[in-house]
Amino acid sequence: MKTAIISGASRGIGKAIASALAKQGYAIIINYLNSEDQAELLCAKIRSSGAVAQTYKADMSSPDEIKAMTDYVKECYGTIDLIVANAAIGSYGLLIDHSDSNIAQVISTDLIGVITLCREGAKAMLSQKSGNIITISSMWGEVGGSCESVYSAAKGGVIAFSKALAKELAPNGIRVNCVSPGFIDTDINANLSDADKAALVSEIPLGRAGTPEDVADAVVWLSDDKSSYITGQVISVNGGLII
Ligand code: NAP
Repeated sequence: MKTAIISGASRGIGKAIASALAKQGYAIIINYLNSEDQAELLCAKIRSSGAVAQTYKADMSSPDEIKAMTDYVKECYGTIDLIVANAAIGSYGLLIDHSDSNIAQVISTDLIGVITLCREGAKAMLSQKSGNIITISSMWGEVGGSCESVYSAAKGGVIAFSKALAKELAPNGIRVNCVSPGFIDTDINANLSDADKAALVSEIPLGRAGTPEDVADAVVWLSDDKSSYITGQVISVNGGLII
């Protein structure tokens, strides 16, 4: 059975990705940090459908905790077949109001955490000579978002990193792709008022906010052999909000 580690799978998009990949037959490692109850509920739901899943608490801003998680998965399951580097935190506000620690927290979770998780996954995948890595960026990483400059920097970094890593790992049969969501209605947008959300939706050509399942569908396709000739790409799931 193939194993998939999904970082930040307790809520939102990561949760939808975990559920969708379980249906594809992956054994699912549900990484979480604070939302233990939600992670355990998801795990129980996946198991009740007959699939294999377990939760794993690890802070994606801690290289030591990331390494402990990937070591654990290698030891227990033998292989790491799919990494979905999804965990991230938002950071909304003027750059001049961002403290040093706020900037460091966003970059260490949203960029360094992704890089570290992919590095640890790649070590296992290189020895297996197979594997698949999917990173989750954001449309703001493509075009930059006002009052989200630090988050945009991290997400832009994820895109550049994913392209570079795709070139590096392709000779070993390991694919790396990036999914870049637009406006998806999850907790990460809790700072937006209903009026802000309505204004954003009014600019989306397809006329609605995205769902976590919209993003999960793209991840499922990239995880599958049906996309076996696709690597180094950014798949935007944004209803046409940026084209
Ligand atoms: P969300 O609802 O806020 O969920 C974030 C998830 O990340 C939670 O499961 C959270 O776990 C986890 N997480 C945060 N910090 C972590 C850490 N240090 N270690 C481990 N887990 C951590 O966000 P979302 O909307 O699902 O976002 C998922 C991904 O999509 C992110 O990369 C985000 O940047 C990207 N994205 C989202 C949107 C959108 O509109 N929603 C748009 C573009 C891109 P705990 O609760 O357990 O701490």
